[in-house]
Amino acid sequence: MARALYPGSFDPIHNGHIDIATRASVLFDEVVLAVYDAPPKKLLFSTQERLELARQALSHLGNVSVVTYAGLTVQVERDVEAQVIVRGLRNVADFEFEHQIGWANHKLAPEIDLCCLFCDDNYAYLSATILKEVASLGGDYSAWAPSHVQAALQAKFPDSDGLEPQQGLSRRKGKMVHRG
Ligand code: ADP
Repeated sequence: MARALYPGSFDPIHNGHIDIATRASVLFDEVVLAVYDAPPKKLLFSTQERLELARQALSHLGNVSVVTYAGLTVQVERDVEAQVIVRGLRNVADFEFEHQIGWANHKLAPEIDLCCLFCDDNYAYLSATILKEVASLGGDYSAWAPSHVQAALQAKFPDSDGLEPQQGLSRRKGKMVHRG
């Protein structure tokens, strides 16, 4: 039986992540999405919140489970007895990063293989960072995350004057993502 581990920050899970998990669930008998508890980046959601959001997003996929982990990815890979690490690729920068991390993981655990899936064209530039920035500015991100994740983002940014969950069009069409 082939079991794959899909590790990441998932802060929060979005449609690009869900697409990769969904396609991995077709390729492998089981997929374990693993939420890393302390990535070297500023987090918006707690580990427990990220776990719950991911669980709800993937609950329709019978062979996908969600766990949290600390420490080395290869250690959780061994703990859950997976043979493959799944990652998503958006661009050359992702490729170079995954190549480097994949090299390190392979040196640490030669029995583990890396499987990178190219992202869906609809999510080619989507990142959790962009999602959070648009949410914080009240833009329309309804195409990028499921409704329960939209609700969680709205709760984090109550003053953003953003969309109600599942609402169709932005009330703030003039507002742009801004880096100042
Ligand atoms: P990490 O901090 O480990 O990069 P992320 O939560 O940012 O964690 O991403 C987890 C995985 O999902 C990575 O393999 C990343 O390349 C992939 N990923 C991120 N955004 C997208 C997207 N829009 N489409 C497909 N895969 C994505």
